[in-house]
Amino acid sequence: MLQKFFAYYKPYKTLFLVDFCCAVFAGLLELCFPLVVNKFVDNLLPSGNWSLIFWACVGLLAIYGLNSLLQYIVTYWGHQLGINIETDMRGKLFTHVQKLSFRFFDNNKTGHLMARMTSNLMEIGEMAHHGPEDLFIAAMTLIGAFVLMLLINWKLALLAVIIIPGLVYLSLYFNRKMIYAFQRMFKDIGEFNTRVEDSIGGVRVVQAFTNEKYESERFAENNEQYRQTKFISYKIQAQNSSISYFLMRLVILFVLVCGTWFVIQGEMTSGEFVGFLLLSNVFLGPINKINSVIESYPKGMAGFKSYLELLETDPDIADSPDAIDAGHLRGDIQFSNVTFGYENEAKVLRNIDLRIRAGETVAFVGPSGAGKTTLCSLLPRFYDAESGTITVDGIDITRMKLASLRGQIGIVQQDVFLFSGTIRENIAYGDLHAADKDIWEAVRRARLDEFIRAQPEGLATVIGERGVKLSGGQKQRLAIARMFLKNPPILILDEATSALDTETEKAIQQSLSELSAGRTTLVIAHRLATIKNADRIVVVTEQGITEQGKHLELVAAGGVYSKLHEAQFGS
Ligand code: ADP
Ligand code: MG
Repeated sequence: MLQKFFAYYKPYKTLFLVDFCCAVFAGLLELCFPLVVNKFVDNLLPSGNWSLIFWACVGLLAIYGLNSLLQYIVTYWGHQLGINIETDMRGKLFTHVQKLSFRFFDNNKTGHLMARMTSNLMEIGEMAHHGPEDLFIAAMTLIGAFVLMLLINWKLALLAVIIIPGLVYLSLYFNRKMIYAFQRMFKDIGEFNTRVEDSIGGVRVVQAFTNEKYESERFAENNEQYRQTKFISYKIQAQNSSISYFLMRLVILFVLVCGTWFVIQGEMTSGEFVGFLLLSNVFLGPINKINSVIESYPKGMAGFKSYLELLETDPDIADSPDAIDAGHLRGDIQFSNVTFGYENEAKVLRNIDLRIRAGETVAFVGPSGAGKTTLCSLLPRFYDAESGTITVDGIDITRMKLASLRGQIGIVQQDVFLFSGTIRENIAYGDLHAADKDIWEAVRRARLDEFIRAQPEGLATVIGERGVKLSGGQKQRLAIARMFLKNPPILILDEATSALDTETEKAIQQSLSELSAGRTTLVIAHRLATIKNADRIVVVTEQGITEQGKHLELVAAGGVYSKLHEAQFGS
């Protein structure tokens, strides 16, 4: 996993090297200071040579100046490195997640996906920057300081480090506790993202049912959970930092006592003593740093693990290696012996055989839940059939490139999904490079032109999140305009007008018949009035396709269709 992680450094080799070298250099400079002070106290102070003292101070000033410049580079460039890697990962993940199949989204919560793309990756970015750099520098300063301490007085140096194993043990102990807390935290964040998504996204429903209190209470639960997890992690952090602070001060106190003793015994000079004390501080600093790396490592790695998991989830449905470009399709569709179920055991469709000729309009009717939508969603390969084949113009759809297949199928559904943005952006979703002229043509054919002209902003009118500022009919017309622009040879109308009142439905029906002219059209409808004129009506029930034929034939046949007809129109 680390190898995969380091692969992300590759584009930023130079940045990493520069940052790393500067950090190493800064670490070395930090070690100089105690040595200079040592010489200062032992040689310069007794000599009383002011000019030498002056130059020593100038030297120190230079060291500090240089070091502060290095700090700048390390902080700025180092964070750039981290954020670059984070951005790359996020971009890659987003692109990948978009390719995942419907089935994946059926089974994963948006909130969790969001958490993986935001907070998780931030932790990874932090670790990418601080991890290797801090660890290396800390180790270097630690060893450097220890060597210098040994050189000054090896006995005192050895006495000073006896406490280290205790500190290491403590770190590891708290680290284990932290990993657990972070895993819980990620889960909590995902959970409450999901809550926010649901409750705020569905706020209109919430208010309509006046369930604000209920939602707040449910949210409070998640919120509280998160707080508790955070409390736990801060408690562990606090315990860790207070105990290690105390132990470290103990080291200093110990050095102070033993050092004083050594100085009195004439084992070391006062300058060496002061230098040694300062070095002990430098020596203890990295322990804190290593502690914080050890702390960020599990966070980052937990994030990276879930990142990889998602990135390595293969889309169930993708182009096969030898997929072909379908070319322009006429829309001659053949379902042969198609069986499909969402969950393995329960089959929604069994052994379906159906031929739809190019240009034909076929209507699907039947009880809700019979599988009409499912049948239609197999055609653009939102799901793949378990067995059997579907061909368009004689080519198996699994052999076609997905883009060339889906590019030639247009779908208008009952609930139109509009993106927050302008009318123009939403229509141009059907053809991202459409010229204004073509957009207006589509708008005119969808009979939306009058409405748009009445808006002060015209096509640039902002329609709000998911198009909340439009009426149901306007949304549907927008979806139709989008389809005129896309101009696909195959069209699926899935209860496109079911949510509308009869007046609006009638008006939109006209646009829809115009839209379906010259295309192979699959219409799903529960109001039979809207499909009377279809070339063929196919009745889908739990038993599969039970009847098909023209309207009058089916009414006369006295089957399911005639019963539906009776229910809607009387006999
Ligand atoms: P229709 O369009 O005829 O009303 P659908 O095709 O939407 O029916 O649904 C057929 C059956 O498949 C229903 O029992 C429904 O519960 C189930 N179903 C639909 N979509 C999914 C899904 N994404 N995951 C699991 N089951 C589904
Ligand atoms: Mg349906």
